[in-house]
Amino acid sequence: VTQSSVLLDHKLTSLVQTLCASFVHGGHELYLVGGAVRDMLLGRSAEELDFATDAKPLQTVALLETIPGASIYRVGEKFGTIGVVLDGVRSEITTYRAHETYEPSSRKPVVRYGSTIHEDLSRRDFTMNAVAVPADALGDTGGWVTSLIDPFAGRSDLALRIVRAVGDPVARFREDPLRMLRAIRFAVTLDLQIESATWSAMRNSAAAIATISSERVAEELAKLLVIEDPRRGLTLFAESGLLAAATPRLAELLTMPDHGPNHPLSLWDHTLNVVRLTSPDLVTRWAAFLHDIGKPSTRTFDEHGRIHFPHHEVVGADEGRRVLQDLRRSNALVDSVVQLVATHMQLHAYSPEWSDGAVRRLVHKLSDDFPRAIDLGLADARGHGNTSWGASKIEALLDRAAGLSHVSEKLESPLDGEALMERYQRPPGPWIKAVKGFLRNQVIDGRLAPDDKATAGQMADEFVDSMGA
Ligand code: ATP
Ligand code: MG
Repeated sequence: VTQSSVLLDHKLTSLVQTLCASFVHGGHELYLVGGAVRDMLLGRSAEELDFATDAKPLQTVALLETIPGASIYRVGEKFGTIGVVLDGVRSEITTYRAHETYEPSSRKPVVRYGSTIHEDLSRRDFTMNAVAVPADALGDTGGWVTSLIDPFAGRSDLALRIVRAVGDPVARFREDPLRMLRAIRFAVTLDLQIESATWSAMRNSAAAIATISSERVAEELAKLLVIEDPRRGLTLFAESGLLAAATPRLAELLTMPDHGPNHPLSLWDHTLNVVRLTSPDLVTRWAAFLHDIGKPSTRTFDEHGRIHFPHHEVVGADEGRRVLQDLRRSNALVDSVVQLVATHMQLHAYSPEWSDGAVRRLVHKLSDDFPRAIDLGLADARGHGNTSWGASKIEALLDRAAGLSHVSEKLESPLDGEALMERYQRPPGPWIKAVKGFLRNQVIDGRLAPDDKATAGQMADEFVDSMGA
């Protein structure tokens, strides 16, 4: 690692100085730790600041209260963490933790405080994250490196470009299986290799990922999915055995034996391409990852021996819903992803013979997810591996939708229930829904302008007549 020149910008430097003055004045130690120090060693600027101190949370709060303009957040207090926002920058200050090993089966581990920065660093996950710099050494550019506290040679591992667990990797992954996913994320985002003993421990311990909360897994997985090029991360996720352990419903994506002669790529390689080719938006990336999940279970051969995946998008929407529900994702995310999976074949079926109404209906069904559906459709076509399977249909659909009137408005019947009751002097009832539905269809099909109440009235008259009494 070259002598790092990147330090904190002026704002962060003055923030560190303010915090430091208050802690040192109070007779306490304060270290910048973890990711921020790692990023500085890599010559990147740190964005969030984590500190470690010997002060207990209550003492930390008291010290912070002496700083004018500091907002203090105590949500993490029982885990030893106090948050502070100063000058618009958020920092977390955590009391030294003891390094204790606990059985994975034990309930929530109780927090025990440590007494030294070395003890605190020894319970951290990777050597490059088990580094600290005393806050009072952070004033001058470059000079801080000589004060680096680096008991596990994280700096040299960064120079070797490897991710290595602190101490015995098997024990560290047993303590907290989430670390395996973090190893993958750091390897991908920082462009590092996973050191071989650490990697073998991951392969041997992958099953343990199933013992931790789905929320933690899903949040870490989300970070992998939105990396600009997530292919390496997803490959490591699969090769480590973590994919099969964390999301068993996805295991067949990896192993489906035959994707058919029209598909030059395996299902897994196609899936990776599609994920890569969508923009890094979490909903779209989940939809891309899951778009063909229905293929393994619908794969059939006809009498000519040709492969088919009948209704794989419908079955896939259902299977995708279960994957995301297992991971306890929000209803909003689940609904959008399911809808995108369910409609992905419909987009490929687009032809210029579609009526305006059919295009409007699709756009309205997808609503805010329409741009994502186009993004997914284009990626699906381009990630097919066969250039003749063009993206031109999706492009044509996009053009068509853009050229249609009233496509982006909320299309409703020009007459609402009140107006209809007034017009026909009839009490509320199911007839209103029928008339409104009829009028809305006229709007969607382009026979009626959304604001043309007069024509709507005439059309409604005819419809009501035809309905009979
Ligand atoms: P980034 O914020 O860029 O994702 P980071 O290293 O700052 O990376 P955080 O999740 O913010 O990661 O955690 C801060 C520090 O806390 C880490 O650098 C590491 O020292 C420690 N840490 C976080 N999670 C774990 C864990 N599961 N096991 C052990 N140590 C951890
Ligand atoms: Mg961080």
